[in-house]
Amino acid sequence: MNKCPIYGNDKITRDIRNVVFEYKGQKITIKQPGLYCDECGEAFYDSNDIKATKKELADFKRKVDNLLTSQEIKRIRKKLSLTQKNASLLFGGGVRAFYKYESGEINQTKSVDLLLRLLDRGKIKIKDILEVVR
Ligand SMILES: [Zn+2]
Repeated sequence: MNKCPIYGNDKITRDIRNVVFEYKGQKITIKQPGLYCDECGEAFYDSNDIKATKKELADFKRKVDNLLTSQEIKRIRKKLSLTQKNASLLFGGGVRAFYKYESGEINQTKSVDLLLRLLDRGKIKIKDILEVVR
């Protein structure tokens, strides 16, 4: 039986509730799993609860910041015939960088975002990048 760590009562339940998140003045309502206390109104999230909504939240922040979403990053990477590892080696940020971008673990930098957009529109080619790093 779960007890509220604040009140010590047993009116805490596992649930999926609408939670409003705000970022730079913009709001999103997400369906957030967690333990909710009806007595004090507190919510408690474990690592799985956070994992369940991290991609949605990362993409919301990306839209506010005018960055490519995880799905768009994946689409462009596949269009360029790059594996997550090869894309990470090409753009930097560690070998798991693109795994992290696409799962919403971290957001890409503006410069990686710009390179992906240029490649997507055919303004530059992978070989252009390889030429300048040699
Ligand atoms: Zn409580």
